[in-house]
Amino acid sequence: MTTTPTVPALPDTAALQQLDAAHYLHPFTDHAALAQQGARVMVRGDGIYLWDSEGRKVLDAMSGLWCVNVGYGRRSITEAVARQMDTLPFYNSFFNTTTIPAVQLAAKLAQLAPPGFHHVFYTGSGSEANDTNVRMVRRYWDLQGQPERTVIISRRNAYHGSTMAGASLGGMTGMHVQGGLPIPGIVHIEQPHYLEHGAGMTAEEFGVHAASWLEERIRELGPDKVAAFIGEPVQGAGGVIIPPSTYWPEIGRICDKYDVLLIADEVITGFGRLGRWFASELYGIRPDLITFAKGVTSGYIPLGGVLVGDRVANVLRRGGDFNHGFTYSGHPVACAAALENIRILEEEGLVERVANDTGPYLKARFATLATHPLVGTADSAGFMAGLNLVKRKAATVHYQVRFDPVLRVGMLCRAHMFDNGIIMRAVGDRMIIAPPLVMTRAQIDEMVDRIRYCLDLTQAELKARGWLN
Ligand SMILES: *Cc1c(COP(=O)(O)O)cnc(C)c1O
Repeated sequence: MTTTPTVPALPDTAALQQLDAAHYLHPFTDHAALAQQGARVMVRGDGIYLWDSEGRKVLDAMSGLWCVNVGYGRRSITEAVARQMDTLPFYNSFFNTTTIPAVQLAAKLAQLAPPGFHHVFYTGSGSEANDTNVRMVRRYWDLQGQPERTVIISRRNAYHGSTMAGASLGGMTGMHVQGGLPIPGIVHIEQPHYLEHGAGMTAEEFGVHAASWLEERIRELGPDKVAAFIGEPVQGAGGVIIPPSTYWPEIGRICDKYDVLLIADEVITGFGRLGRWFASELYGIRPDLITFAKGVTSGYIPLGGVLVGDRVANVLRRGGDFNHGFTYSGHPVACAAALENIRILEEEGLVERVANDTGPYLKARFATLATHPLVGTADSAGFMAGLNLVKRKAATVHYQVRFDPVLRVGMLCRAHMFDNGIIMRAVGDRMIIAPPLVMTRAQIDEMVDRIRYCLDLTQAELKARGWLN
């Protein structure tokens, strides 16, 4: 259970902000703006709440960065980590060696994974795991005597990490323009985003249509050139984009038809977020490889990896050296944290709770936000949800009027949330959440009430600025 640690004395926020601005280059950050504003210093977490250096409490509706599935303050993870650190803080798995937590976790993951998965390759992060996928599928086709099968097809607005291969697999234009990406051999098709591309179709029709873009691209490239297709079951960083139910089965059919490997990037959707250990089960995805990270340790210690299905594993295991791996592949402390995290998820039945209880409750409560004048749509899948801020509503989603993107209405809304004790993320004008799986029904009520209140504040500000009638 969560414990209440002693509250540390409040640090000198201004001094920390000054040092932060002077020395710390943050990820994905405009530093001029940050220096002017000063970073918010987080000092403590317990359950679904965080406290900052000024003693303010915030409800963390983003689970840190999609990862703190079991919530903050889990003493038993701290203890598992401390025990492993005392016993063996590090050893590698390179030289015909292994460690107890790495073996135990591999066996546990094989048990939790969908049928046909019995092997794991460890990395330190989701990005490294997707780099591993690139090398692994190319190695696979090499060993199969089809070395010309090298191209990996991904989707626009996907997020697969920030290493060279991860950012290339991802479909974020803002990342591609910095550093000459994508690297060769990675191409993108359009995302299954009904609101963007589905006008004139039902969602189900659109799902099949969006999947047909994959077949089109495979035929353009030549099936004998295509190694794999990669996708997130539900796009996360792209804005919680939930595909129509027809999309994944059709993608599976196309991959089968052209013998293309299917990679499910479950870095966000794995470990209970959608009410299954892996969302592939929920959407009828039959992947050959599954990327994981984030929720595997609830972020307490970095860990990632690839679950390798039998088709690929059997070839790799017969294929001699696979010249790939990381110093921290199978880090014993990270694996110990993962084992305890998974034990908590099981003991507290959190995956089932999201499936049968709090997930449906969140869906119903979150959907009520669509009655707010500023909200065009509010939808969710398990413990991921998003709402669109619109200037004018319409019964047909494709006719709703959006705000001019230069107004950055989402960021304005996010600031109101942040100032009023709730963390929500803005992707353009879509406000998204991915709360810790421990969130109770009462806390869901608290969260939805707070979101509604902040939407009111946002609406009032937009009116005051003359951006809304
Ligand atoms: C976060 C994320 C990654 C990258 O994981 P890191 O641990 O940040 O390298 C990859 N894929 C998806 C779907 C993610 O959300």
